[in-house]
Amino acid sequence: MIVDWETCIGCGVCVEACPLQAVSLAPEKKASISNLCVDCKACTKVCPKDAIRPGPEAGEGRAQCSSCPICCLIPLGKTGACQRFVNREGNLVRNIPLQRYEDVQEVIGQDHEEIIREPLITGIGAGTTYPDTKPAPYIVQSNRNGIDVVTVVTEAPLSYSGIKVKVDTDQYMGQEGAPVLIGKKRVGHLCTEEYGSKMLSLGGVNLLTGKDGLAVAKLIVDVANRREVRLKVEEGAELILQVGKPPVIDGETGERMRVGCGSASMGLFGRYYLGAAEEVIVLDAHLIGQFTEHTAGKELGAKYSGLRLRARRSTPGRYFGEHGRGWGGTPVENPLDILEGFDPQIARPGMTVLITETTAKRAAMFRLEESGKFTPIELLPKAKAAVEMMASNCQVSRVSAVYAGGSGGSARAGVTKIPVKLNLAIHENRAKLTVGGAPTYILPGGGISFLVDVEKVRVRAFTYVPTPATVVPLEYTMRLKEYLEMGGHAESIRKLEDVLRELKSR
Ligand code: SF4
Ligand code: SF4
Ligand code: SF4
Repeated sequence: MIVDWETCIGCGVCVEACPLQAVSLAPEKKASISNLCVDCKACTKVCPKDAIRPGPEAGEGRAQCSSCPICCLIPLGKTGACQRFVNREGNLVRNIPLQRYEDVQEVIGQDHEEIIREPLITGIGAGTTYPDTKPAPYIVQSNRNGIDVVTVVTEAPLSYSGIKVKVDTDQYMGQEGAPVLIGKKRVGHLCTEEYGSKMLSLGGVNLLTGKDGLAVAKLIVDVANRREVRLKVEEGAELILQVGKPPVIDGETGERMRVGCGSASMGLFGRYYLGAAEEVIVLDAHLIGQFTEHTAGKELGAKYSGLRLRARRSTPGRYFGEHGRGWGGTPVENPLDILEGFDPQIARPGMTVLITETTAKRAAMFRLEESGKFTPIELLPKAKAAVEMMASNCQVSRVSAVYAGGSGGSARAGVTKIPVKLNLAIHENRAKLTVGGAPTYILPGGGISFLVDVEKVRVRAFTYVPTPATVVPLEYTMRLKEYLEMGGHAESIRKLEDVLRELKSR
């Protein structure tokens, strides 16, 4: 790459953008590019003056990487833009060798021991010992594989709680960060999306302790207990959601989750696109794929169709999409609107174009006429087969949820007299937290903030109190020795058999 010093204003934006420190500001306050440059074009994307352009052919000994669409030209002994691949005498090799599990075990830490992975008893139905000055309702002990184990259970009211709802759909819901409402009450917001899914964050301590806290608590519990809820995204969609069921978005029931973005579908289904049409375009709100320009198409031997797309180009055959209520969650209502034009030297009358969504729910085929216009035609057999292949690989659209709670507060007093020791034991895998018997994921760092898949917890296990706070069954399981060392309530330990006998007699 070279910089046109006539145009360069010396702003330095390219210096920051370059992943390899290949650009510097010369004393003249103009950008200058060294031979570390691998032609990744990151600088060209940010230059406000379009002052950077391709230079003369790269020097000898460079190797082209094809591990991503950037296609870096890497000098001898140097790495590409991602700093993963190094050019060793013309061969590109990964600069960290393949790691065995043993090599990384120290970082991962010890797994939970088998004997403490499952609780002796669950917290469901245990009750609570508010205001936490007393030991937890049940502290039970039993012997597993010759080792004494203790489980402490309680139904803890948690003000620090909320629920993350995952909706597997490409249907438009609203702007990221938009408030989620019940009537006029704000109960959460739309989060950043996950692969193929929209995400909602509902509740959380600030909303639970706000003026609409009761409605928020009820909502969290309803979602967790797999009841249907009706929500509205501000300036977005009306939602009917129920964990385990397909979402209903603006009255339309979700059927399929997208198979991947438009670019991913090129690699996934390229062999089916080949021969299906002279061009295949897959519309998607994140990345739109154009097969004959995409690396996958090139590798499979597709010839560039000459079509130009009306979208912002990322890398060849990959275009950034936008969000909307049209095809593939984009604003494109008429699939032909994605076509900006074509090169008449390459695109010939009679050529066909297949345009589809990533879910393959909608697909259309067009033929280029002598007049230069595209007319719709029936899907040709190979195009139909390609679309069916995409559709059959989509998972069903459904709603899932993880409950997020913080139990690092006063509820710990029912477990131990030295609460910090419980936190440490949890983080060091010496004690295991479960929710209604279901495994939790503990957020790293301090405190005891956990996530649990609500579908692994028995229905009606979640409740709320009008403080407002949600109430969740918790179990802490550890070795008896560990429990005594952390200042556990030794005097309240009961034999598991006694507790089970008592339960039976009720
Ligand atoms: S971003 Fe463009 S204008 Fe700014 S210093 Fe770099 S080359 Fe010059
Ligand atoms: S093309 Fe990439 S490596 Fe080269 S100067 Fe620009 S940002 Fe740096
Ligand atoms: S994988 Fe890394 S080195 Fe290879 S082309 Fe992409 S950014 Fe460059």
